[in-house]
This record gives sequence, C-alpha cells and structure tokens, in this order.
Amino acid sequence: MDKTELLRDDIKYIWRPFTQMKSLENENNKPIIIKKGKGIYLEDIDGNKYIDAVSSWWVNTLGHSNKRINKAIYKQSKNIEHVIFAGFTHTPAIEFSKKLVNLMNNKLNHVFFSDNGSTAVEVALKMAYQYFVLKGQPQKRKFIALKNSYHGDTLGAVSVGGIDMYHKLYKPLLFEIEQALSPYCYRCPMNCDKQSCNCECLESVENILNNTANEIAGIIIEPLVQAAGGMIMYPPKYITKLRKICDKYNILLIDDEVAMGFYRTGKLFAYEHAGIVPDIICAAKGITAGYMPLSVTVTTDEIYNAFYDDDTDGYKTFYHGHSYTAYPLALAVALENLKILEEMNIEEYLKPKIAKFSKELEKFRNHKNVGDIRQTGMVCAIELVKDKKTKEPFNYEDGIGRKIYLEGLKLGAILRPMWNCIYFITPYIITEKQIEKLTDIAYKSLLKVLPDKE
Ligand SMILES: *Cc1c(COP(=O)(O)O)cnc(C)c1O
Repeated sequence: MDKTELLRDDIKYIWRPFTQMKSLENENNKPIIIKKGKGIYLEDIDGNKYIDAVSSWWVNTLGHSNKRINKAIYKQSKNIEHVIFAGFTHTPAIEFSKKLVNLMNNKLNHVFFSDNGSTAVEVALKMAYQYFVLKGQPQKRKFIALKNSYHGDTLGAVSVGGIDMYHKLYKPLLFEIEQALSPYCYRCPMNCDKQSCNCECLESVENILNNTANEIAGIIIEPLVQAAGGMIMYPPKYITKLRKICDKYNILLIDDEVAMGFYRTGKLFAYEHAGIVPDIICAAKGITAGYMPLSVTVTTDEIYNAFYDDDTDGYKTFYHGHSYTAYPLALAVALENLKILEEMNIEEYLKPKIAKFSKELEKFRNHKNVGDIRQTGMVCAIELVKDKKTKEPFNYEDGIGRKIYLEGLKLGAILRPMWNCIYFITPYIITEKQIEKLTDIAYKSLLKVLPDKE
C-alpha cells in the first residue's frame, strides 16, 4: 500500500488517542507513518529522519532498536511468552522483582504487576483504601490529589487527575477527592519567591487534613515534575516535608513515578532526591526501556502485612489482576533493561548529559517569549509566555505549541510542546553533540513561530 492509501485507511479504521478526529482532514495534521527507529532517530515511510525528543511518549530510554533488548524478547519468546500468573510464576518475574527491590534498599519490597501506568495507580488507590479497611479505619476512603496532576486515563486515575481539559467532563463518573494546590514554582499559588520558598503551598494539604484526616487514606503526587500538567517542577524538599505531614496525620504517601521512574530524574526513582521512602510507588514508562507494556506498584512490609493472614473468608485478599499480569515477555525485557542500566553505571552516565542540557538551555534564556526554563535531570522544559514581566500565557487558540511542532518536523526533530511548553524528554543515549543539535532545532523552530524582536 502506498502512503495515500495507508493514511486513508488509518483515518477510516482507527480512533486515535487525545485527538479530534475531524482535525485530521487538515493536511498538516496527518499522522506520520513511522517505518523504523534506530537510536534516538525515528524514520518515516518517506525516509525522513527525526530526533525522538519525546522518547516516544516518554517511555524510551535506551533508544530504538536496541540489540540486547530485541534479543531478550526473542529469547524469551522461545521459552514462554505468557502464562497465567495465578498459581504459576516464572524466572523473569522473580529475578526482576528481586533486583528492583534490592535497588530500593529493601524498603519498598513487595511488587505487584500490571501493564500500564494508569492501572498501577488504580492498584495503589485500591491497596491504600483496603489497607485502612483492614486496619479498622474504613472511613479513611478519600484521597488528596494536586491541581494540574495527571495519573492516567482510567476512571480511578482520572478521579485523582487535576487537568480540567482532560478530566472535568467525566466528573459525574468519578469518586470525590480533595484537591490541594499545585507546587507550580514559576506561577507560585502562594506568591512566594523561589529563593525563600518554604513550600508554603503545602499549607493547602495541611488545611485539608486539619479538618478531615480521619477520612483521608492518602495523597498521590507526581514526584518533582507534574509532567502532563505542563512539566511543572518543584523542589525535593516539598516531598520531604510532605512525608512528615503524612506521618503526622496517618495518611499514606502514594508516589506516582510512572513518568519519572527508572532514572528520568537522574536517580532510579525521584523520591530518592527527597531522602524519604513513600508508602506506595507506581512505575511504568521507562521500566522496559519502552519496548513492552509493563507496570509495577511497589509497597512496604507495613501495608503488605496488613493483608497477610489465614483469611478463610477472603476478606484480606487483594482482589486485583489482569490477563497480562507479569507478562513474561515484558519481564524478560525489564530484567535485561536493569542489567544494561547497571552495566552503563547509569547515574554517572547521565550526569554529563544533564549538564549539557543545562548549558544548551541557556540559549533560550533571552528570547522575549521565554518565561521560564526548568530542568530536573533528563527532563527539560521551556515555558513560553506572551509577556515576560506579567507572565501572561498564550491562549490555547494561539496554537503556539502546534506551530513549533510543525517547524520542528521540517528541521528533523519530533518536539511535542504541551500547552505553551517546549520540552525535552529524550532517550538517555543521546550524545552531547545530539543535545546541541536538538536544542538548536528547537530554538530555530521557536524563532520561526515567535521571532525575537519587537
Ligand atoms: C503517563 C502517566 C500515567 C499513565 O500511564 P499509562 O501507561 O499511560 O496508563 C500515570 N501517571 C503519570 C505521572 C504519567 O505520566
């Protein structure tokens, strides 16, 4: 089939995610048909190559078509591709869990498998609620979540979501939560200064707890970066303080590491920067280097033990599972991924790249529409504003992000600005030269759309 036929059938048969289907009638909005990938590059059916600046929806870490990962998939497929995970188990699941728990210093040490980030969040919420039921506090059934948060698209995950455009419509279907302020440092909801900030926005969490702690099971956060909300970044001390608040009011800290886990912030999990241990973590995106759907919800002895019993009536059993729970192909990849990262000495490996990004971001600094430049490890973001002084944002209708995306394509990079935010979440294997090239492309694309003169 040629390109025209493929695109005709694509729109005819496929309902795309996060997409107004009618907008695809516009020639500019046709999906790009990707034929293959190699390293940080994606190649389309016409032979155009693009730097994958978004790691294929934030999942890819080792680049595309990694030989060792491909081999691990093939090897595992010859042994066992799938087996029911109730009553049966397999070596990849066992070895991976053990390795992961060791990497977390055995503090979070019970691994529950599922196959996407949203579900890992659902599991965490159900676990937290049932934990308090089993502890004789069934009235603790509500959660606190933050404004601008994103935890996935299933109904439980949407309930704890805080992005109006994605979440508001479904409100009648959702369970009730308490919403606290977003730690949006560039637009601080408490009007504090970054330098003297003492995480005043956490007062909104304490205010909720002062009144209703006996109804609250936990708080769910995206650690250090509210990613889908617009790469909103906040300091580790927020999480350190939040841990203390959770202890004071006897609620659980649920740490959604789906986007930031597996070294995106420079450490295995973002919570490590805060020197604390959450009660439950969810991880998914980087877990298989972007090669297979897999997720985990990992918790402590304390929570696990509350469920552990003779349990003749099944009351203390955690009733949750999916057809693809602990999918062996995915586990073989996740295990190989951990081995590769270990051999790379990944934390050290990332340091010069993080520093290089930090240096290259400076070229955006003086542009009249660059309001904020932020970075957490391998996540970089540039927030564009109409007016630097007033921080007045562009309107959604201005479509600035979309225009920059189209310019980026012409120059050979897949940027996917969110709202008014250009960001980079690249595969870890990007070289320093490639970082220069990518940021150059992004800067040129920005200049095309927003020339830097009065
Ligand atoms: C992407 C994301 C999710 C949802 O993961 P899916 O695999 O897309 O279901 C949940 N939480 C965070 C923080 C995410 O970035």
